Amino acid sequence: MRIGAHLREDTDPLATANELGIDVFQMFVTDPQGWKKPAPRPDAEAIRDSQFDVVVHSSYQINVASLNNRLRMPSRKAVEQQATAAAELGAFGLVVHGGHLRDGEDAKEGFANWRKLFDRQVDKGGFGVPILIENTAGGDHAMARTLEAIDRLWESVGDFEQAGFCLDTCHAWAGGEDLVGLVERVKGITGRIDLVHLNNSRDEFDSGRDRHANLADGHIDPAVLAEVAKAADAPVILETPADGIPADLSYLRDAL
Ligand SMILES: [Zn+2]
Repeated sequence: MRIGAHLREDTDPLATANELGIDVFQMFVTDPQGWKKPAPRPDAEAIRDSQFDVVVHSSYQINVASLNNRLRMPSRKAVEQQATAAAELGAFGLVVHGGHLRDGEDAKEGFANWRKLFDRQVDKGGFGVPILIENTAGGDHAMARTLEAIDRLWESVGDFEQAGFCLDTCHAWAGGEDLVGLVERVKGITGRIDLVHLNNSRDEFDSGRDRHANLADGHIDPAVLAEVAKAADAPVILETPADGIPADLSYLRDAL
């Protein structure tokens, strides 16, 4: 099993990955809080040729489901640009949050917007890398918080080869989904899990809050987290507080 971490410090991810002794890492290709187009990286070739598997996390304000043109249009563009930058790094995917609508908006249109994201790209030969849609923790109008929502989302995007799934354990827990047997239930809907974000949660079950904790420090039994990693049979990325990542890695290596 390939195990690794999200590297927040992205000036020299290869050095950090070597230091941690991981197999796979996740990084941003642009400021995650902004809309800036990714700049070419001088270490792109080195990352591509390295022994590490790489996955890219897209910036946070992206919301391709939004019914608001002024948010959806830049979101589509950012996904395309960041997928291209991810391909430059030889990444196996671009993680994009499921997104959400506002009060009173029709969820059906949000799912349709997800479909359009892929549909519009077909003429351009698809995205540079698969788009891994991540489940999220909070909100009443989220596109990928509950299994019911994921089921509807997959009815919209499931026939696109480039639509993949990223399962975040903190988000599932805080979103109100029992982690025991969850991998099987998700795969029953999506047919695939391309990536696991293995995080504990600082908050209670179904809290709707998105605060990650190190594996031994949260409300989720760490043994349950290890079971999710085993069952998913996909690369595992820790998005936990940096100081505790070495301990998280050794816990996981022992547990697996
Ligand atoms: Zn995540």
